[in-house]
Amino acid sequence: MRVGAAAAQVGVAAHVLRHWEDEGVVVPDRTAAGHRDYTDEHLHRLRVVRSCQRVGLRLSQIRLVLHRDAAGRDGVIAEHLEHLRRQRAELDAAEAFLTHVLTCEHDLMSRCERCSAYPAG
Ligand SMILES: [Zn+2]
Repeated sequence: MRVGAAAAQVGVAAHVLRHWEDEGVVVPDRTAAGHRDYTDEHLHRLRVVRSCQRVGLRLSQIRLVLHRDAAGRDGVIAEHLEHLRRQRAELDAAEAFLTHVLTCEHDLMSRCERCSAYPAG
């Protein structure tokens, strides 16, 4: 299938697929006339790329993650997991802070020790 149809299937613009091709992430076949030709296998890969983007991986990382035997793959994943865990800890702290603020009985946040304890970052 042509690039426009493949892009529609995956829910991205055609230029995104051309970019992914330039980056070597998903490289389609070519028809005799030179048009990009995406097979079902390519479509599966495109969807996997979208999933990987959704968890926050960059294309350079995704290129490695797609292949189980790629050098450095486990390190990329471990590093990103660590990043996600840090983000989760920050979100948990932010949630706890705001939950407290909602029910805080001080008239000014600055007069409350807990309200003032949240790191300014
Ligand atoms: Zn408070």
